[in-house]
Amino acid sequence: MADWQQDLLERFLRYVQTDTTADPQSADKPSSAGQFELLKILRGELEGMDGFSTELLPSGYLLARKAGSAGPRGPLALLAHVDTSPDAPGRGVKPKVHRNYAGQIIELEGGLKLDPAEDDYLAACVGDTVISSDGTTLLGADDKAGVAILMSYAQWLSQNPAALHPDLEFVFTTDEEIGRGVENFPFDKLKARRGLTVDGGRLGELEDECYHAYHVQALLEGKSHHPGDARGKLVNAVSMAATLVSLLPRSESPEATDGRYGCLWANSIQGSIEEARLSIYIRDFSEDECQRRLELVRQAAKTVECVFPGGKISLDAKKQYSNMRDFLRQDPEFLEKLTLALKRAGVEPLRTPIRGGTDGARLSEQGLLCPNLFAGGTNFHSRREWVPLGAMVKAVQVLQELSVLWTGEGS
Ligand SMILES: [Zn+2]
Repeated sequence: MADWQQDLLERFLRYVQTDTTADPQSADKPSSAGQFELLKILRGELEGMDGFSTELLPSGYLLARKAGSAGPRGPLALLAHVDTSPDAPGRGVKPKVHRNYAGQIIELEGGLKLDPAEDDYLAACVGDTVISSDGTTLLGADDKAGVAILMSYAQWLSQNPAALHPDLEFVFTTDEEIGRGVENFPFDKLKARRGLTVDGGRLGELEDECYHAYHVQALLEGKSHHPGDARGKLVNAVSMAATLVSLLPRSESPEATDGRYGCLWANSIQGSIEEARLSIYIRDFSEDECQRRLELVRQAAKTVECVFPGGKISLDAKKQYSNMRDFLRQDPEFLEKLTLALKRAGVEPLRTPIRGGTDGARLSEQGLLCPNLFAGGTNFHSRREWVPLGAMVKAVQVLQELSVLWTGEGS
């Protein structure tokens, strides 16, 4: 293993041991102290690298800049998030390194296992170094694999001053996992209008497409009356909400759809006889399909009003984020260069649409075009999360190749 690959492994093992679980209950940014702690660790390491200047923002962003050769395509931003998901425990991560993986079943605590017979990706990792948690926590490859990849690339740049690269802006973000990853994003401090989130999954993943997303909040108003004397008078908002939910097509629920077919679902419900609130999410790769589902919800609400005379429903629909493909189309050459960088690093690009959104989607909408590159891990947000070192190594090589292509050399 080359020195820099060993360095990459050690960095990753270090970073996962700082608890950076995002806290959805907190209004602070970052939402947990551990995230800021890791940003400070990264800043300390970057300051020890030649040619890097850093800026740690109280809003939970660490910026690191490295001047390069001015090329026709301007500066490039590289992003990764330091927080981990609150969906599985993230404190006291004890990473397990399976060197020269021989294809065996990996036994984890609590009876969990990783079985190559059930996982092609694991089966393909024979001979590689596989890193898992011990089964009591998540691993945190989402997205500390991305953080380690960026840091390792930074280290490599500082040791290879002759390497070609554009002006680079590294951005380490917080609270991605609770949907607040680009809150107060420091656009004013960045020159780049093109970037890359290194937050994808398996080796080769290159994601340039995600959902269009809408959030519909329904307010259902009923009429309360003493139940002993309610005939023809009481209108029950709880029953109205339940009826509205029952009218949403089950064949278009997330649990009934996959691939490019979008979905909608009732996400939360609360209320009493007088008033109920219902939250509905709509997702699709096509804006037209989102509009069709919005209309479906409107029609269902009207139906409920008809069935519950005297009841009233108001809907408030808000767009949450857009399919980044619509923005990335402005610069087809960007994706061409990125795809070429993968190929030059010996990686077959896997172009899969994301059934979700990314920080990159929100940034693309605001002018920083940001597709998503693999960081190598899988089984995210769970105790069975794992990552092969080989994929992380390849991601660093993709960044090396992309930088050269970006400066206009070797294209
Ligand atoms: Zn992530």
